[in-house]
Amino acid sequence: MSIITGNQNKAERPLMMGNEAIARGALEAGVKVVAAYPGTPSSEIPKTLGDVADEMGLYVEWSTNEKVSLEVAAAAAYSGLRALCTMKQVGVNVASDFLLHLAEYGSRTGLVLVTCEDPGSLSSTNEGDSRPYSKMMEFPLIEPGDIQEAKDMTRWAFELSETVRNVVMLRSVTRMSHASGNVTVGDLPETDVKADFQCNGEFFDQMTGPVMTLPSTAPAQRLRQHEGLAKAIACFEESPFNTYTGPDRPGLLIITSSAATFYCREAIAILGIEERVGLLKLGTTWPLPPRLIEKHLATADRVLIVEEGTPFLEDNLKALFADRIETVGPTRFHGRADKTIPSVDELNPDIVMAALAGLLNLPIDHSTADYRQRISAALEGNVPDRAMTFCPGCPHRASFWLLHEALKLDNRRGFISGDIGCYTLGVADCGFRAVKTVAAMGSGVGMASGFGKLRRFGLEQPVIAVCGDSTFFHAAMPGLVNAIHNQADMIMVILDNAGTAMTGFQPHPGIPVGADGKPLPALDIPTICQAMGARVEIADPFQFDAARKTIAELMDDGGGVRVLVLRQACALSPARKGKKEWTVSVDPDKCLGEACGCNRLCTRVFKCPGLIWDPKQKEMRIDEFVCVGCGVCAQVCPQNAIRVEKVVNS
Ligand code: SF4
Ligand code: SF4
Repeated sequence: MSIITGNQNKAERPLMMGNEAIARGALEAGVKVVAAYPGTPSSEIPKTLGDVADEMGLYVEWSTNEKVSLEVAAAAAYSGLRALCTMKQVGVNVASDFLLHLAEYGSRTGLVLVTCEDPGSLSSTNEGDSRPYSKMMEFPLIEPGDIQEAKDMTRWAFELSETVRNVVMLRSVTRMSHASGNVTVGDLPETDVKADFQCNGEFFDQMTGPVMTLPSTAPAQRLRQHEGLAKAIACFEESPFNTYTGPDRPGLLIITSSAATFYCREAIAILGIEERVGLLKLGTTWPLPPRLIEKHLATADRVLIVEEGTPFLEDNLKALFADRIETVGPTRFHGRADKTIPSVDELNPDIVMAALAGLLNLPIDHSTADYRQRISAALEGNVPDRAMTFCPGCPHRASFWLLHEALKLDNRRGFISGDIGCYTLGVADCGFRAVKTVAAMGSGVGMASGFGKLRRFGLEQPVIAVCGDSTFFHAAMPGLVNAIHNQADMIMVILDNAGTAMTGFQPHPGIPVGADGKPLPALDIPTICQAMGARVEIADPFQFDAARKTIAELMDDGGGVRVLVLRQACALSPARKGKKEWTVSVDPDKCLGEACGCNRLCTRVFKCPGLIWDPKQKEMRIDEFVCVGCGVCAQVCPQNAIRVEKVVNS
């Protein structure tokens, strides 16, 4: 039995990761349909629910992208089933087109959108903050402040969604989703609901009419939305997820939300200022509950707002204060805006302590300028450096080696327009810095399509777009259609490593399996590209000679869109993990170390982590524990000094 499906003895309080707690909360709410696109730090929620789909009678899918996942979840919510949709912060941008229409029409049964965000960009290319969508599109936003609340607020979010008849956004962050805590569980309901899409009622009847937003209905639908927000405010004024701890009239009032609550509590305890500082933790962050806020603002002259992301809460508190200045009295606000809290990057208890020390004139060590340096010095030698690199045996290293080499030989300053996946590391040394643009998912081919139309203005550089197999389905297909239709001069390289590798190997439409592990029909990428009208070639990046020939041919075939599928499974995929195809060794007669004349091409440039330069012996060695036996380095060595031997029954 999974940790999230047990009707555990409430005294047991099982240990759950934040994302597992969210999954459990959804089960306690009787969720029936779950749709998602993977993205760290959100991926464990649908994975956990997918693992129990049969046991709990759920439908769980990995959708093509976040917009589609929200559409799938909304269809369920319009048909009488509670539905959950999860994504990371950048995914909300993808889903936002549909989200605007969804919010305007509203929902029928509980529909919860969980966005797991990444302050500090620990596993993202940006620090996007999705909370402003709730204000801009006018639906409720809630933010759990600990792991228990992650479970409880998810469960409650479905009820709230049905109260306001709209989607509810629950925002988590990395330190909430990936931290663990003991959780008191509730009961799992026995639900046997039948899906039925009512659509023949009156046009404007939200529960039985057709589901659409039209020019003639938009203003009235927005008024209905506002009525829902008013109901949300009424709930939020009384919500047990908004809590206050501290003196009746604090010298300083901290207002916080989400994982920043942990840091505030820790900072207050370490500084021993419980008698001087009040902590208002808000779980309901849009719309703000005005009476509750007013009551607390009236108790303090100074307020510090501590939140992850942009000054969203801070700005909204200031706006609410401006309306109530006569009853609240003069108040000074501190936070991200005045840089009491740094305006960027993830928070931690040290940052909050430094802010409190500054405001309360406390002489603490953590606010001194050299604190970080002393921490780094203390860690030196204890924490090994980790290079930003591809895994040993990663097909992307081989692919970028080949593409970089082809562009160098071509000698027209060609470049690669990159995309989002493990292969974004093509910008770094491990990808030979061949990638020169990276933006949103699918932007690689979209931008290449634009570059590929600049010939008439004198742009002569060869243009190559890369994307992975999951990204191809997610967002690259429209860009490729655009490039083919408009006859852009470019090569599109699809790095097909058989799964969504970066986020933990979730399947996509090209993989013949679904989120519950059951078989599904797979869509063939080369066939799709051919049907679009492109010339399509397939090569294995581990077979250098054949792949080189194919790339050279495609580069010579000037004009129009050419597609190359470089197909080789990820080193961590079930197909390859733990299976060595080759045993690899160094021929000491041929590898003469620095005397080779190759200037250490293997360990200085190719840099697979399985290759080690021994500075004492001045020669290369294979690290047998790290090497996964892909055999590619043997094709890189110009002296043929790396020997490979086929592993029988690998
Ligand atoms: S997870 Fe797979 S695709 Fe990603 S870097 Fe490692 S080997 Fe390459
Ligand atoms: S065979 Fe060579 S390139 Fe492949 S994993 Fe081993 S050391 Fe790295």
